[in-house]
Amino acid sequence: MNSQEHQILPIKLGITNCYLIRGGDDYILVDAGPPKSISTFIQKLKQLMIDPTRIKLIFITHAHFDHMGSLAEISALTGGISAMHHQDKELVEKGMVIMPGGIGLWGSFLTVFLWAMKSQVKKNIKPTLVDRALEEKPFSLESFQINGKILPTPGHTAGSMSLVLNSGEAFVGDTAMSGFPRLTGPGPFVLGDDLKAMKRSWQLLLDHGARWIYPSHGKPFDAEFFRKYLGS
Ligand SMILES: [Zn+2]
Ligand SMILES: [Zn+2]
Repeated sequence: MNSQEHQILPIKLGITNCYLIRGGDDYILVDAGPPKSISTFIQKLKQLMIDPTRIKLIFITHAHFDHMGSLAEISALTGGISAMHHQDKELVEKGMVIMPGGIGLWGSFLTVFLWAMKSQVKKNIKPTLVDRALEEKPFSLESFQINGKILPTPGHTAGSMSLVLNSGEAFVGDTAMSGFPRLTGPGPFVLGDDLKAMKRSWQLLLDHGARWIYPSHGKPFDAEFFRKYLGS
């Protein structure tokens, strides 16, 4: 792993890896976990001895339930500004539960289970206002004392975004996965709406200097994998 310019603290909420990134005395949170994660979140902040009000930005990578399910409670706890792509923001504000499409045999198999879960998940999702709509152009994190930016990386959902630090760490949500729902390490996609767009997003991440990928599901991995898979 390369040297980190900013401290990175993983926080696992349910099936989702969320991350705190430190800039100065404050933090950015990447993703807000599945519904009913607030007590786990509070407990983990206590363990890390982090005052919740030091979290100034809550960046949601996309509108799936395992990434925005506890946003309302985490926003209320921290007072941090929530931000996400304008397209997925609309879905969160309407309280809509969307499920990804399946790619390949295993992906198609998984979507059957996801769709069966949908009504159950919907009971726990409430419409949540998101403070800031992010657009197509990169969003600089300078005002949060972080050398990095948020980029649109569509494909998994139309409004998926990734946070890329200048030092090469990239927080990609479900734009790439290296653990369940993948069965082995990083590899071809299993869940997403647009395979071609996802491949373009992998290339975009490389073009913006991503060297180490932090997915929401599975362990961090070397971005060289993208290069090999794309043949670039
Ligand atoms: Zn997702
Ligand atoms: Zn996910």
